[in-house]
Amino acid sequence: MGKIRRYTIEGTILEIPIYWEERSQRYLEDYSSLLEHPVHTKDGYPIFLTIEDACPDAEMQDDDPSSIDCGSCRYYRQTPGTLLGVCRNEKRRWDADIRKSDERKEEIIE
Ligand code: SF4
Repeated sequence: MGKIRRYTIEGTILEIPIYWEERSQRYLEDYSSLLEHPVHTKDGYPIFLTIEDACPDAEMQDDDPSSIDCGSCRYYRQTPGTLLGVCRNEKRRWDADIRKSDERKEEIIE
């Protein structure tokens, strides 16, 4: 098994694989699995990369036209030491009602 870094972000444990990058001579985090399988905090807030494209519900912290990603949004809460953070926008929250209806849909499909 390769090396990992473990984070606990608002109650959700994430294990991020890391790899050695020759050019920068340091370990970098591999977020590919996270991008394929998005995760949420225990309260249903999505965990995103700071560099992800801003969504239509974004409210940027400034009027800078270069502010185009989650990291520039006032709803984003950066986790220290990684590119990960939490979107605290209620509109993006995966709440219990949606979860229940998704579970019901899965039951019907099966
Ligand atoms: S932090 Fe949330 S609200 Fe802001 S741009 Fe990202 S997904 Fe959208």
